Parts: sequence; C-alpha cells; structure tokens
Amino acid sequence: MMSSLLKVVPVSAAVLGTGGFFYKTFSSTLKADEGTNEEVQNLFGRKSRVAVIGGGIGGASTCYFLRKLHGDSIDIDVYEKDDRLGGRLSTLDVNEQTVECGGTYILKGHRYMVQFAKDTDSETNDVLNDAKMRVWNGESLINLPSSMWWVDLVKTTWRYGPLNLWRLDNTIDFVDKSFKRIYNLQEEGVSFETVPEMLSAMDETQQLFEFTQKSFQQVMREKNIHDSVTNELINPIIRWNLGQDADDVNGLVGFLIAGGGKDGPVWNFKDGNNQVCQKLFQSSKAEVRYHSHVKSIDKLVTNQSSEGSGNQRVQYRLLGENTDAGRSYDVVIVATPLEIPSCYVDCDSCQEWPSLSDLGQYQKRLTNFVESELNTESYNVAPDTQETPDVILTTKADKTNYDTVIRLYQTNGQKTLPAVHKVFSRESLTEEQIKFIFGDKVKDYKVVSWLACPRYTAEEKFISFRLDDGVFHVNAIERMKVGVEFSAIGARNVALLASKYLKESCSKL
Ligand SMILES: Cc1cc2nc3c(=O)[nH]c(=O)nc-3n(C[C@H](O)[C@H](O)[C@H](O)COP(=O)(O)OP(=O)(O)OC[C@H]3O[C@@H](n4cnc5c(N)ncnc54)[C@H](O)[C@@H]3O)c2cc1C
Repeated sequence: MMSSLLKVVPVSAAVLGTGGFFYKTFSSTLKADEGTNEEVQNLFGRKSRVAVIGGGIGGASTCYFLRKLHGDSIDIDVYEKDDRLGGRLSTLDVNEQTVECGGTYILKGHRYMVQFAKDTDSETNDVLNDAKMRVWNGESLINLPSSMWWVDLVKTTWRYGPLNLWRLDNTIDFVDKSFKRIYNLQEEGVSFETVPEMLSAMDETQQLFEFTQKSFQQVMREKNIHDSVTNELINPIIRWNLGQDADDVNGLVGFLIAGGGKDGPVWNFKDGNNQVCQKLFQSSKAEVRYHSHVKSIDKLVTNQSSEGSGNQRVQYRLLGENTDAGRSYDVVIVATPLEIPSCYVDCDSCQEWPSLSDLGQYQKRLTNFVESELNTESYNVAPDTQETPDVILTTKADKTNYDTVIRLYQTNGQKTLPAVHKVFSRESLTEEQIKFIFGDKVKDYKVVSWLACPRYTAEEKFISFRLDDGVFHVNAIERMKVGVEFSAIGARNVALLASKYLKESCSKL
C-alpha cells in the first residue's frame, strides 16, 4: 500500500511494499534520563498508556523523547496507516540506483538528528558539499561560488553590494541565534502550547513572530536589502525548499531557510533516512501497528469518586481501520499533519477541535527522477567540466515550470553514475521542458507527487500543539518550518507537554 502523501504517477518501480496487518514489538535499548517521573507508572492501576499516530520521523522522535523522560513506566503504541515507517522519508530505485525520494538533506547543525545518528549507531553519508551551484534566470546562469550556501556568496559582493550582504547576514544571524535557544529551553524541560509562545521564548523582542505576519520580500525591503538579493540569492533557495516564492511565504520561514548556511555541511543516513525511524521506534520499545488508519478519537470522561469530588478520569480511544477501539489511552500524540485531508483525525467529543475547513493547506510538489546527463547546451556551459552544475536553482523571472534540478547521490553515499537528477516542479513537466533540461538521451523517468510541506502564507496562522486535555500535535511545528529537525523539535515539545499532563493527572488522584 502506498502512502497517500505519496502518489506515484507513471512510475514502474516505485513499489514500497505490501503486506497484512501485524504488530511488531521491539526490544528496548533506551534508558530514561535522570529524574524519571516514576509517579506516572501506576496511573489508574496500570502503566500510563500513550498512543502515537504516525510512523514518520515526528512519531519516532516522540517515542524517543517519551522513553527518555519516562523509562519503562509508560507503554507506547504507534498507529501507522501504511505498511512501512518513514512517511515523507522514503527511497526510490531508479534503474539499479537507490536514491532518497522524500526528505533528503540533513545539516551538521541539526542537533537532534546528529544525536539520533549517534544513539542508534547509524552510519552517515556526506553529500552535496562539493556541489557546484548555479542560478538560472531563464536566460543565463548566474555564476555562484562552488559552495552551496549563501554565506560563501560574499565573494560576489561586487554584484549585490557589501551593505546589502551585511544587512542580510545580520538578520539571518539574529534569527539563527534566537531560534537555537529552543535547544536550551527544551533541555531545561520548558514546553509550549503554541508556536507563537515558542517564538516569544526564543526572542523577547517579538521580531520572530512579527516576521511570520509579513512576506519574506516585505521584511527584506523593510531591512533595506535590495530586491536583487531577494530574487537571485534567497528566492532560488526558497523555491528549492518549499516550491513557493519570496512574496508568498512569511519572513520567518524565509530567514530560517537562508540560515541553513550556518548549519552546513550536509549529510544523510546511509541506506536511507527512513532507517532512523525504524531504529528509533525499536530503541524506544514502541509497539508499532501497521495498516492502522486512525480516523477519529473518542474522549471518555468519568468521575473518579462517588461523592463527586470533581476528580475526573480522561481517557481516549482510537477509531478507524485496525485500531483496537477496546484499548484506552491517557495521552494521544498526533504525529501527522492534520491539515492534509487523508491524514486528518477528528474528535467530536473534544472541545475546540480544529475542523479541516479551518486549517491551512499543504503544497503539492512533484519530484521528477530522470536518469540522464544535463543538456548543457541549453544552459550555455561546456559538458563534463568545472562549469557543469550539480544544482540548478531558478528565479521567479524564469517563467519555466521547475524550481530546481539536482544531481543525486545514492543512499550508499556515491554520486549517481549514470547521473540521476531530481527536478522539483509544481506541475507536470512537458516534453519540451524535459528536452530543454536533459536533451534526447533520457533513459529512465519517474515522477512522485507529494503534499510535501505547508503552503506558507504572508500572514501565517498557527495550529496549537495541544488539541485537547491529553491530545498533542507534533506537526504544529511545521508552520514555523518544515524539515526533519523541526519534526524532532516539535516531538520533544509534545513529549514534554504530555509528560507534564501525565504528572498533573497523577497528582490529582
Ligand atoms: C520531496 C520532499 C523533499 C524533502 N526534503 C527535505 C530535506 O532535504 N530535508 C529535510 O529536513 N526535510 C525535507 N523534507 C521534509 C521532511 O521529509 C518532513 O519534514 C518530515 O519527514 C516530516 O516527518 P513527520 O513524521 O512529521 O511527518 P510524515 O513523514 O508525513 O509522517 C506521518 C506518518 O503518519 C502516517 N499517517 C498519516 N495519517 C495517519 C492516520 N490518520 N492514521 C495513522 N497513520 C497516519 C503516514 O502514513 C506517515 O507515515 C522533504 C519532504 C519531501 C516530501
């Protein structure tokens, strides 16, 4: 069965496996941190039970952090609607080469991902670090320096002016330093019910939040940074990451993307990023239930004492396909984007539950996998030379229908040979476009369609991390920024919220 986030269009070999409904229990290797909340152990005469909906990196990180907080004093069940783990992390075979199909690049500054690699003894690949990047404006390639990150573009000061680059660097630095406070806050056990609260704690001047209420282009103009910097340096990276442009995404997500330059170099997990999900579920001793599509949550509230002293017991049941409605939970963690209709989970018995029509949307992105060399003639560069780009970014001025062309690495860390390129586009590529980018020698061509990331807006609206008393939503973080590290930050936040809630529930008994 294929993930509904993942729709393969005319693809022959993108089979992600089939199989029946089954449980898997993994052996434990994770130990609780010091200060384990032992008191949650005997909630209502049994271990506290947590249900996690979603087997992607958000769900896997939640299990990891919950197990670290509570050791063996809680039971964790994971409900995954597909027959595989990883969600938006998956691999694809293009002829005999296996490449990342969804989430691909991780940065050295992504502290939780680095920690997961270490804790799960995972091997990693260094990728893309010697990549030659060029920006195509529809007429010519703008000759960027060899490194992929904007920081190195200081060498092109002559083009953009030192003052513009200095102002850009200052703002990126401010956003980056403010954002990184989240790691210390989480280490201290601080949790947040909403993204705006999280942003306030990172930056008491409230600028981060203000950036979420204006377009990136507007913030750049208010900072007196010339439009050429927005259009030629940052917008191409925004198009690559989000499939959107600087005038229709908010300022914060734009600066967080631009700030990636401070977090390089780039790496990923050997044999596929989805491997780490499997390992994290395994080490946190979660019971994974495949083919379990949760459609709704049922809240049950009962009074605990006959005198009606007001102590209430709140339990949740999960309803849907293969969900074991007889099993009740103290806490439910939704680790999938509620905003995607095929993932949406309802709760009639919860107050103030978000309805699908009130939520934002996700951005359709087509990933076109093409086994072919580039048609260097189209881009006016000599083939197989220092000039041949590994990554072609595009500007909005280029009226063509693609955002980025990238020469891929295999999941074993080797560069694809023969070359396999990934083209990100918003609509299907025409034959003419394929011919322009690759010429006549395309050997294999596969397309995978994703609802990949939130469709950001210039005035961002946020969904809460807390959906009900004991129900928490990891993917609320995605409105700050999409990405594997952000899913892990969202996961640690909801693990802390859930832990606090469990402790409070116990103390009331
Ligand atoms: C093409 C593409 C390229 C990307 N590139 C990068 C990159 O280079 N770097 C980066 O950091 N990020 C990248 N990302 C983003 C990254 O993949 C995501 O941020 C991350 O994988 C999200 O993980 P998640 O667990 O939060 O959500 P998901 O991966 O979406 O996981 C949700 C899981 O829940 C399951 N599910 C959904 N609804 C239900 C339900 N009702 N009941 C039961 N199960 C359900 C799904 O099947 C899925 O397994 C990319 C994404 C795409 C699509």
